[in-house]
Amino acid sequence: MDFKQHIRVIEDFPQPGISFKDITTLLKNGEAYREAILAMKELIKEKEIDLIAGPEARGFVVGAPLAYALGVGFIPIRKSGKLPGETLEVGYDLEYGTDKLAMHTDAIQPGQKVLIADDLLATGGTISTSVNLVRQLGGEVVGAAFLIELVDLQGRNKLDKVDVFTLLQY
Ligand code: IMP
Repeated sequence: MDFKQHIRVIEDFPQPGISFKDITTLLKNGEAYREAILAMKELIKEKEIDLIAGPEARGFVVGAPLAYALGVGFIPIRKSGKLPGETLEVGYDLEYGTDKLAMHTDAIQPGQKVLIADDLLATGGTISTSVNLVRQLGGEVVGAAFLIELVDLQGRNKLDKVDVFTLLQY
């Protein structure tokens, strides 16, 4: 399937100079959404995975169905102040702005193999922070999988010893 035809590109959102890849047009197409998740499942088929972790909000939209398809658990990576239990927080820079990400301290058992999933790899700030969180909680990061990679931003270079899987490249 030509997944790119289902992704809408919006210029100058959320600020001038950003060429935003809008996946809502893919998500609303049942066949395209399902095929994209199954194609991501195929990309990571060599990996042994205990858990999928996804950063809010679009990491849920990609990570949760991937976890369901694999029959493994899903653990959320959230913005500061959203998770009800005891959390570990790490600060990070975005392609546009800064923020903090948090995980429950009991989300991962030591040594569990965790794949991190998100919609899009840009500068890699979100995902390298997610990798740090998972590692600090004792998880082994077996890879990071994305629907889209913005190749020029070289986000994968920010990821130390992480196998990166991307379905579409721009
Ligand atoms: P990074 O931290 O710079 O790699 O940015 C990745 C995060 O920003 C992901 O969670 C994306 O959801 C979001 N993001 C950045 N650029 C875009 C875009 O062009 N389309 C959709 N999401 C984006």
